[in-house]
Amino acid sequence: MVMNCKPVPTLDDRINDIRLRTAEIVNNDIVPNESRLWAERREGEKFTDRTAVLELRAEIKDKVKKAGLWAPHLPKEYGGMGLDFLAHAYMNEVLAYAIGAASLFGVVAPNSGNQSILVKYGTEDQKQRWLLPLIDGTMESGFSMTEPHNPGSDPRSLTTSAVVDGDDFVINGHKWFTSNGIDADFFIVMCRVQDPPKEGVVLDPRSGPMVQIIVPTATKGVNIVRGIGVWGRRESDHCEVKYENVRVPVTNALGRVGEGHQAAQDRLGAGRIFHCMNSIGQMWRAFDMMVARAATREVHGGLLADQQFTQGAIADSYIDIQTARLFTIHAAEKIDQGLQAARTDISAIKVYVPSAYTRVVDRAIQIWGAAGVSNDLPLWGMYQGARTLRIADGPDEVHKILIAKNVLGQYRKGDGWDFGN
Ligand SMILES: Cc1cc2nc3c(=O)[nH]c(=O)nc-3n(C[C@H](O)[C@H](O)[C@H](O)COP(=O)(O)OP(=O)(O)OC[C@H]3O[C@@H](n4cnc5c(N)ncnc54)[C@H](O)[C@@H]3O)c2cc1C
Repeated sequence: MVMNCKPVPTLDDRINDIRLRTAEIVNNDIVPNESRLWAERREGEKFTDRTAVLELRAEIKDKVKKAGLWAPHLPKEYGGMGLDFLAHAYMNEVLAYAIGAASLFGVVAPNSGNQSILVKYGTEDQKQRWLLPLIDGTMESGFSMTEPHNPGSDPRSLTTSAVVDGDDFVINGHKWFTSNGIDADFFIVMCRVQDPPKEGVVLDPRSGPMVQIIVPTATKGVNIVRGIGVWGRRESDHCEVKYENVRVPVTNALGRVGEGHQAAQDRLGAGRIFHCMNSIGQMWRAFDMMVARAATREVHGGLLADQQFTQGAIADSYIDIQTARLFTIHAAEKIDQGLQAARTDISAIKVYVPSAYTRVVDRAIQIWGAAGVSNDLPLWGMYQGARTLRIADGPDEVHKILIAKNVLGQYRKGDGWDFGN
């Protein structure tokens, strides 16, 4: 089944054109090749077979670039499309319909988030050294903030320290879930700048201003302990990393010391909306699969589609998708007016969309029966992805607290909430 994507009457020609051309590549080049594009390496697989897969990926990327659809999240001066958030949201719901398509359009987390903060906070030298290779694909990166012994949902609790010694930072700390850690050439590491330890003085490990520091992974003392196994898999690229007396130049600080928390919020704010845009495309796909199955599968002498339980699942999923989609578009529109203005809505979609996504995929799996949980269909991966999203980039509870804080603050000032703005 291909995605049914037609011009949206209320959108301008430019965005409609981007959507239609994106759908053409998704429908013609990516969806029909999904099982080949992302197949795990099989035992005994011939080298030439793997080369053919890499060539196919390169071919599609080339097509995307020629169509002017590469890196929608980046400004034009860095080889991207220079899209605002709203246009990006409309494009992304189309490209995310196909499994793994974002990477073929140049948007790969955590690289894309790191690219965005390097664009915003990087010096010219840092951009030349780290950003450009990240964009042209000759380098990989990770974002290293969460720590096993401190709650990630309270980033101010982190204790990884960076002590200034001459022209260097000396970093010590313990992180985990640093995604893309196996392949990364550098990490952006969230640290606290602290004074060197003095004899007899006990320093509060949670004191000191925060800063993000670029750390090449080949630096002595960057020790990758393991790729943490997730969802029953033995290993993943979400890495546990120990930083043991890691020495990098102070010029590797990304932004000013003390700006680390703000830079992380900028990165995560944009990242959260990208996650939601991706979820919409995936929900759309799960919905198509659910309806197609219901329309053809016979049970108890009739089509599944004729059973009211099935109709309920279809209707509930339609409502989930359309509310999640319109809410995400509303948040994207607000981000274009300023990240601060959009913070309540970003948190709201970060809670709402992954749970709607979970519900839709859950229903699609149910309607497909055993096939729904099989490796033959992509639904199991979507289900795990949707569930994981309720934790990654800030768990639901933290976002709900922020929504309530912003709303209550407004009412305390004597204003009500303006849902139109
Ligand atoms: C697949 C995956 C990839 C990730 N990639 C990265 C990455 O690349 N880089 C990185 O730095 N991190 C990454 N993370 C980590 C992620 O950002 C953290 O897991 C997240 O911020 C939560 O932190 P925590 O796991 O320490 O949970 P904790 O902070 O220990 O929270 C545990 C639970 O407590 C509950 N909770 C928290 N606060 C409250 C509250 N105030 N009231 C009530 N309940 C509350 C929530 O349910 C939460 O899930 C990734 C995580 C996953 C799962």
